[in-house]
Amino acid sequence: MAPVIGVTATLRDDVEKVAERPLGKFVRADLDYVEGVAEAGGVPVVLPPVVGPESVDALLDGLNGLVLSGGSDLSPSYYGEEPVPEMGITIPERDEFEMALVEGALLRGLPIFGICRGLQVLNVALGGSLYQDLPTQFGGDVLKHRQETPKWQPTHEVEVDGSSLVGDILGSRTLKVNSYHHQAIKDLSDEFVVCARSGDGVIEAIEARNMSECWILAVQWHAEAMREAGPEQRNLFEAHVDAAERHASRRAAA
Ligand code: MN
Repeated sequence: MAPVIGVTATLRDDVEKVAERPLGKFVRADLDYVEGVAEAGGVPVVLPPVVGPESVDALLDGLNGLVLSGGSDLSPSYYGEEPVPEMGITIPERDEFEMALVEGALLRGLPIFGICRGLQVLNVALGGSLYQDLPTQFGGDVLKHRQETPKWQPTHEVEVDGSSLVGDILGSRTLKVNSYHHQAIKDLSDEFVVCARSGDGVIEAIEARNMSECWILAVQWHAEAMREAGPEQRNLFEAHVDAAERHASRRAAA
């Protein structure tokens, strides 16, 4: 049976400018994530961030895998910092929901695929920290990581570690990717290894130290928006759905 993959959604506050118009409140999941999962053979389910932490277990019972999507900044309180002036929009209920979701998914050993904010949430949930704002905090010759061109256009290169699973999946050592972030990993969680960096040294992809024990992989770029650019980005979705399928059959056998 096709694995059921939860895709995190956001709230209207995440959509800039929309708040100026009286559109009412809504939950929003970018279609690219949902289609990425469906194309890879998974059954996508959108997860609204209105589920309280007490109900996360019930939600996870119906899932075989989890995609953590992009969006607003994660509150720096989760890594013990106060906000700097350059920090962007945060959505407290989304932060709380996703931190609880990750905790529950880890306990169940659900395969997790993090994208952009998703990579940042995973790193912080497992003890790491973030740059709240790359241009003001990273120093040196930091690249432009917040591109102003459409999401399907790659703007900077990443160097991929060929010995990592991410390297295996992408099948490429250098890759041009899009870049829609002003935050990035600062201190990497001990549970992860770096799989790709941009030319300035910013971490662009990570995976769990022991992927056979817990399948967790995350990229800083928006892989979902580059599925037409070549097989690499689609391969990430396929590898995740495959891992979710293996997890589901192991659970059925137990
Ligand atoms: Mn980037």
